[in-house]
Amino acid sequence: MPNVVIVGAGPTGATLALLLARQGIPVTLVEAAHNFQRQFRGEGLMPSGLDALNQMGLGPLLETIPHRPLSAWEFWLNDRRLFRADEPLGSAHPCTLVSQPPLLEALIQAAQRQPNFEWIAGTAVKDLLWQSDGETSQPDNRVTGVHLTDGRTIAADLVIGADGRASAIRQKAGLTLETQPKSIDVLWFKLPAPPDYATDNRFCTVVKKRRVFSLFHGAEEGKLHLAWAIAPDEPTEQQDWAKTFAALVPPEFVAHFHSAKDSISPPMRLSVLVGRCNRWHRPGLLLLGDAAHPMSPVRAQGINMALRDAIAAANHLIPVLTTTNASDPTALDRALAHIQTEREPEIIQAQTLQAHEASRGELLRRFGLLRQGLSTFSPLVGPVVKQIWTQQQQPLREGITTVRLNAD
Ligand SMILES: Cc1cc2nc3c(=O)[nH]c(=O)nc-3n(C[C@H](O)[C@H](O)[C@H](O)COP(=O)(O)OP(=O)(O)OC[C@H]3O[C@@H](n4cnc5c(N)ncnc54)[C@H](O)[C@@H]3O)c2cc1C
Repeated sequence: MPNVVIVGAGPTGATLALLLARQGIPVTLVEAAHNFQRQFRGEGLMPSGLDALNQMGLGPLLETIPHRPLSAWEFWLNDRRLFRADEPLGSAHPCTLVSQPPLLEALIQAAQRQPNFEWIAGTAVKDLLWQSDGETSQPDNRVTGVHLTDGRTIAADLVIGADGRASAIRQKAGLTLETQPKSIDVLWFKLPAPPDYATDNRFCTVVKKRRVFSLFHGAEEGKLHLAWAIAPDEPTEQQDWAKTFAALVPPEFVAHFHSAKDSISPPMRLSVLVGRCNRWHRPGLLLLGDAAHPMSPVRAQGINMALRDAIAAANHLIPVLTTTNASDPTALDRALAHIQTEREPEIIQAQTLQAHEASRGELLRRFGLLRQGLSTFSPLVGPVVKQIWTQQQQPLREGITTVRLNAD
């Protein structure tokens, strides 16, 4: 049976490895990090992402790891609440914060129960192996494996680059990423949550004094997260963050930020890159997840898209890999093209909707009069804005195309 090397054990790589390994397909999953603890990893799963995990039979596994549903979305302009929209907004499940390190570890453990699965952690893939002369990346040349940083080479009938937004595989394969103009980076803070926040876990978006940021209780017990949007070229010099936040947060949080001033974690600067490859594949190689289409953090789409990519890829790859002779790779290469064709429309639309959502926030940030007007008349306009906003959320919550796992 043809063998697969998957590069990167984020949500895309870990779930696809499990889906393929369960079907008896030989899979090697290579992850650069030694463990999942050190990197920042987003937590928000929309109903579409929860549905994808359920389709993979991973609903019970989710119950065993730290997770926390959102209670509502709140929008604050200056010091007034424009509206509150209660979860699940008509969906089957509420948006849920899921701690990614234990989720990824549990996925790897499940895959390790398959005898045909190999897990290589703490070693990066540094290059691709090519069929013709071992060096070139001419468009017709076939990728035939990977070189690891520890000197090993692994031959593969299919290499899947699931190595995230800065994908080395994308670059080595000569597949070009078309990026959207960079508009924000994010400074990420954690601090103790106010008592009882977890019982009414609101995702609060605040726009005040030309600043936009969000607050929510993460999956981890007692931890409030604060995501602070900054311009990409904005310096992040040391400052009294507690004082800065206390001047901007909704009135009910002011005292808490003063009292938590010594417990706010140093900020983690997260670069936001959004874009899409025109071509996600070449003979013997497929890009998936952020490697093919890095997603904005707006309305938590990336993990959901990653899980849905994994399902679509499994649907196309399993029949081919379980019936194809490795010496005749044409059916495999056709399947790679079909995966892009199936997934691309949803990605394009999700990125467009994310951009619209971000641009509305930017309008409110830049135009003080608009902000002031909406804030002053929030009791009147709030319900209308809430209705429009709630309707606009549906595709970002439920997904845009139909994604169903065929067989497992
Ligand atoms: C600030 C911020 C907040 C976000 N919050 C959310 C959120 O709440 N919800 C949501 O749905 N999305 C969120 N996202 C987006 C989300 O994180 C990504 O879309 C998602 O993680 C993509 O999954 P992936 O598996 O494709 O890539 P990644 O999660 O990036 O995983 C790639 C993996 O590949 C490994 N790797 C990289 N290079 C190599 C190599 N050469 N060899 C071997 N391994 C390698 C990395 O170590 C990593 O483990 C956020 C993004 C940002 C920037």
